[in-house]
Amino acid sequence: MTRVAINGYGTIGKRVADAVAAQPDMEVIGVSKTSPSAEAYVTMQRGYPLYIADLAKKPAFDKAGIPVAGSVEEMIEKADVVIDATPGGVGAKNRPLYEKLGKKAIFQGGEKHEVAGTSFCSFCNYEEAFGKQFVRVVSCNTTGLSRLIQIMDQAFGVKKVRATMVRRGADPHDVKRGPIDAVVLNPVTIPSHHGPDVRTVLPHINIVTLAMIVPTTFMHMHVVQMDLEKDATREEVLQEIEGRPRMVLIRPETGIKSTAELKEYAMDLNRPRNDIWENCIYKESISVADGEFYCFQAIHQEAIVVVETIDAIRAITGTIKDPGESIRMTDEALRFTPL
Ligand code: NAD
Repeated sequence: MTRVAINGYGTIGKRVADAVAAQPDMEVIGVSKTSPSAEAYVTMQRGYPLYIADLAKKPAFDKAGIPVAGSVEEMIEKADVVIDATPGGVGAKNRPLYEKLGKKAIFQGGEKHEVAGTSFCSFCNYEEAFGKQFVRVVSCNTTGLSRLIQIMDQAFGVKKVRATMVRRGADPHDVKRGPIDAVVLNPVTIPSHHGPDVRTVLPHINIVTLAMIVPTTFMHMHVVQMDLEKDATREEVLQEIEGRPRMVLIRPETGIKSTAELKEYAMDLNRPRNDIWENCIYKESISVADGEFYCFQAIHQEAIVVVETIDAIRAITGTIKDPGESIRMTDEALRFTPL
């Protein structure tokens, strides 16, 4: 059993903790919070030992009736692997602690590539992460783009990718972020950082990305265009994507044409937290003409990187060599209800 500590029990950390607990070959040895909160109460319900970054804050946890198992450093000492799911930039500050204690750590997409030196996407470069001390799972947008590009590149060869990211303004719980009523160019300059980020896991891909933020919390929407090396038909593209792990073709018969209807569907199917770990490609949007491929895909920002993080644990600990096997184990343990 790989002993996993989750440093930062927020949007991503709490999902990773539940995903780790569901795996047959891993256990959660602790999670961390900085202050008492609803999520800290949830750790009690889940039975995850709770550690805190600053022991001076223990009286606040005592007052809230939330047991504290110790300091973050004590938690990390007990772990084989640390998942750093603290807010972007905090991971870089935590890295010296992981180094001092000689622990393996997995960072998230809010950190720069250089924090780990190896970025990770299960479909693209699992082998590259093998046995490494530090790995960074690329962001939600980058994971969604990279999975699709890798499939298309292996099947047809990709000459170039041009993609626009329509990004959610905030996660649903996040009452402090916006915009409330604007479309914000993010950034106004082109390209956005997503293209270079894809190249951290698929360095040979010619890609330019644009991004904007809109007032929604559900999901991101990607508008993707690729020039292909080989001639392909729409049917051939559908065949390549259909049945792949973590790739869903949204059937026209569902009538779903938005992110809101998609999230409602996931909720009705009783998915935990309504999470969608897969790329959701609107089947009707897939078009191929004159060597150009187009589609719309929706990406659930809170969920997509969770399954990749589980695979990254197996890669850096060297417990499973074959990415396909890790992907299968991860997804089976989470019991994906088909969309
Ligand atoms: P979050 O703010 O929801 O959660 C972060 C948690 O870390 C909070 O519980 C906070 O209390 C805790 N924390 C803060 N400072 C800490 C410290 N010094 N030590 C221990 N814990 C600390 O953030 P998030 O959205 O889960 O993001 C975490 C990482 O995942 C970031 O790198 C982010 O860019 C990345 N990411 C987020 C999303 C998303 O949609 N939310 C998607 C993909 C990747």
